[in-house]
Amino acid sequence: MPATEMQPLVSLCQRRGFIFQSAEIYGGMKGLYDFGPLGVELKNNLKAAWWRAMVHGRDDMEGLDGAIIGHPLMFKYSGHVDTFNDPLTECLDCKARMRTDKMADPTVCENCGSKNLLPPRAFNMMFKLQYGPMEGSGSEAYLRPETAQHIFTNFKNVLDATSRKLPFGIAQMGKAYRNEIIARNFIFRVREFEQMEIEFFVLPGEDEAWHDKWLETRLQWWESIGVPRSRIQVKDVAKDDLAHYSKRTFDLEYAFPHGYDEIEGIANRTDYDLGNHTKHQEELNLTAKVHKNTHSNARLAVQIDEDPEAAAKGINGPKKWVVPFVIEPSAGVERACLAVLCEAYTEETLPNGETRTLLKLKPHLAPIKAAVLPLAKNKPELVAKAQEVKNMLQRLGLGRVLLDASGNVGKAYRKHDEVGTPLCITVDFDTLSDGQVTVRDRDSMAQIRLPLADLAAHVRGAIEG
Ligand code: ATP
Repeated sequence: MPATEMQPLVSLCQRRGFIFQSAEIYGGMKGLYDFGPLGVELKNNLKAAWWRAMVHGRDDMEGLDGAIIGHPLMFKYSGHVDTFNDPLTECLDCKARMRTDKMADPTVCENCGSKNLLPPRAFNMMFKLQYGPMEGSGSEAYLRPETAQHIFTNFKNVLDATSRKLPFGIAQMGKAYRNEIIARNFIFRVREFEQMEIEFFVLPGEDEAWHDKWLETRLQWWESIGVPRSRIQVKDVAKDDLAHYSKRTFDLEYAFPHGYDEIEGIANRTDYDLGNHTKHQEELNLTAKVHKNTHSNARLAVQIDEDPEAAAKGINGPKKWVVPFVIEPSAGVERACLAVLCEAYTEETLPNGETRTLLKLKPHLAPIKAAVLPLAKNKPELVAKAQEVKNMLQRLGLGRVLLDASGNVGKAYRKHDEVGTPLCITVDFDTLSDGQVTVRDRDSMAQIRLPLADLAAHVRGAIEG
């Protein structure tokens, strides 16, 4: 049974070192969180799983890591300066600020029930900053509110460097910043977060089939990290609610304790983005309505054969420029971590009536892969043997392996269940004579005796599957 309330999970995350309020000793800042010793492992494992599946596991993808600070013209031509707005209202009685498109009734204050609200105004969510030592106009830049724009502005660079042909994608993971009107629901809506984004470039006309294909690919990935389809609702966003650049969007909404909410958007962005950032727009038969670009020095298009069938037969015919359409699967790392944690969070009643809390994390995501426990902490020969076993497992390079020498095995089991450690390995007095250890499985609590010679293969099998 996944988490049905957020509070127990939030408190586990704080207590066990997954996630802390940022700058808590100064009262914290709303919408900013720091990932602690276990949180950073979970987050890194999750991002690595995405990169492995979306980049290393495919033949049609390149990676990118763009700058976080964005050129003002990039965000002018992307449309962010003019349109990256949320509708903001303020209650004149209690001074609460709210986003009207997320309110149950936009005429009633969510905080105090007053109807004394200011009319909504467009609030731009980008963080503006001064770039370089000179203040004033011309020195402003923005923290990127999404990673996507660097992919579009590097389209030609990547194409030239790799000689890719359509269809192919560029993937990027990294920080994004949005000055959200209200940050809430723990790490669900924050002002600094990370995105895992793909811009997949296809021939116009092939976009709809690729859009469907990406929906399926991404649902499979969510399943692989422990978020099953049965807990994701795919919303085919209604025409009236589509972003201005989108032909069609699927929102993947996970069943969070606070209700179904978005973990990923998969949009068909047509030729809007490359079309906005390209030079010579008028020659390119763009389908999207774009802003006239008088600054770009690159043609963001590919050359294709006018008659592909003839070209396939080796006949050299005329070529034409085409601006690719873009399919964009865009997921948030924090929301993914939260969905994974919610899904893994389990409270079980044991036969003796006690409850145990565990995180049934997929082993490849678990922050600690295995804990090695000497049965007693005051027996140097046991601790030394446990240390030896821990060193051996650490060298496998599977992730964190800890020596937990508290000497209280029962307590250590409970702690490691709670943080999702798949395996606990106990070194006892018999180990010293028979060379065997006890391996306990987190989910079934089953214990087996295993010769040390077989331990590495067993642990590898359990973690890598
Ligand atoms: P929402 O409607 O919830 O504000 P969005 O539709 O604006 O989200 P996108 O612009 O599609 O979000 O961004 C892609 C992904 O980035 C989202 O699916 C989400 O996982 C993540 N994301 C967006 N905004 C935030 C945020 N403030 N905090 C955490 N993750 C976010």
